[in-house]
Amino acid sequence: MILIDGKKIAAELKAEVKVRAEAFYQKHGIKPSLAVVLIGNDPASQVYVRNKIKSCEETGIKSCSHFLPETATQEEAVSLVRSLAADDTVHGILVQLPLPKHLNEAEILREIPHEKDVDGFSEFNIGRLSMQKEGIVACTPYGVMELLKRYNIPIAGKRAVVVGRSNIVGKPMSMLLLNANATVTVCHSKTQNLKEETSRADILVAAIGKPKFITGDMVKEGAVVIDVGINRGEDGKLCGDVDFEAVKDKVSYITPVPGGVGPMTVASLMVNTCMCAERNTK
Ligand code: NDP
Repeated sequence: MILIDGKKIAAELKAEVKVRAEAFYQKHGIKPSLAVVLIGNDPASQVYVRNKIKSCEETGIKSCSHFLPETATQEEAVSLVRSLAADDTVHGILVQLPLPKHLNEAEILREIPHEKDVDGFSEFNIGRLSMQKEGIVACTPYGVMELLKRYNIPIAGKRAVVVGRSNIVGKPMSMLLLNANATVTVCHSKTQNLKEETSRADILVAAIGKPKFITGDMVKEGAVVIDVGINRGEDGKLCGDVDFEAVKDKVSYITPVPGGVGPMTVASLMVNTCMCAERNTK
């Protein structure tokens, strides 16, 4: 079994971004820049935002954070994102999700122009992905593809099973695997006989949000297992959607949690920000 080292690959990716960001600065006299919007007090979101800002510092990307209180109104949130959209010095805009419940998420995200949509969540960028055209790809699935690529794991012709169909992970993940010529099955909570589906996977991606949900008997001998899940187990420790201990001796490759897909998501955000700056600066 080979343990896929997400930390190491994320560091490689960030080192590449640093070179690109420096070249951008030399050419344009400004750094690529990312505006991060955080609304409310969600503790996990605060940690994610801190990590993103730290990664910007490491890669030579300028970050500016915009905090609104839990009580922010829809109008305040929309007007903040609209002002960032109109600001030529901002190359990428990220609105940290989830938003407080009283806010209309779709309406706020719609204010992000597709060329600044560093999360790749807009209908435009999702449409481009599904049509196999150049666009901005959601960070987590992009990061997974980079892991597969950099570990020279073949995809074309393989049977890939993605468990989860969210707009931010499962769906774009399945699209990317399809674009890379895998034969893709997407499973979800209404899938009948999930084990039968997952046991056929050469490449199994778990993006479910349930601790240790994928057990040893659900995985094929020699499969590549990518665990996107980030959960707190009963012992209070971070764990994935895959029961790592039960699966590890059966598989050819596996990502750990933490240290697998997680660091790649942040590194991919840096790639997307740099790309937005390069594409949209004359
Ligand atoms: P969502 O809750 O949006 O989606 C979960 C998906 O899992 C849904 O499609 C759901 O099906 C499916 N599902 C739920 N229960 C079952 C079941 N019993 N059998 C089969 N499928 C099931 O989550 P996200 O996609 O946003 O995130 C998934 C996980 O990945 C979470 O743990 C999250 O924390 C983590 N994550 C990690 C990131 C990283 O950087 N590593 C980034 C983003 C997320 P249905 O559609 O039918 O409801």
